[in-house]
Amino acid sequence: MDEACIFCKILAGEIPATFAYRDERVAAIADVNPQAPTHLLVMPVVHVANMPALADSQPALVSEVFSVASRLGRAHGGDDGFRTVVNTGPGAGQTVEHMHVHVLAGRDLRWPPG
Ligand code: 5GP
Ligand code: ZN
Repeated sequence: MDEACIFCKILAGEIPATFAYRDERVAAIADVNPQAPTHLLVMPVVHVANMPALADSQPALVSEVFSVASRLGRAHGGDDGFRTVVNTGPGAGQTVEHMHVHVLAGRDLRWPPG
């Protein structure tokens, strides 16, 4: 756990959140500022700053996080589908340095993203 990390605090139960999934290695919470009717954040329970760091250190966990994101995306997006987004670094809009996959569904999603 990183004491300065808001997601670690959520995973430790110190800050409330709505959990969509939780096991020993992967968790999914509802985004506090949803950008679509479904907006979930799927993350490893272990603190890792971003996706390339996770891929370097624990590549199997990248797969587990995306498996959970896929199941949740299917469940919430249905036939219309869903979007997964992973922001890495400030220029890409990453604001929480604990790797997470956004899962968005429930409305038409435009491309290219902003
Ligand atoms: P990023 O900008 O790093 O890709 O995504 C961070 C996401 O975390 C944002 O969509 C933001 O709304 C969400 N977020 C930030 N703080 C909290 C919080 O305390 N609780 C929850 N559930 N989501 C948060
Ligand atoms: Zn963390």
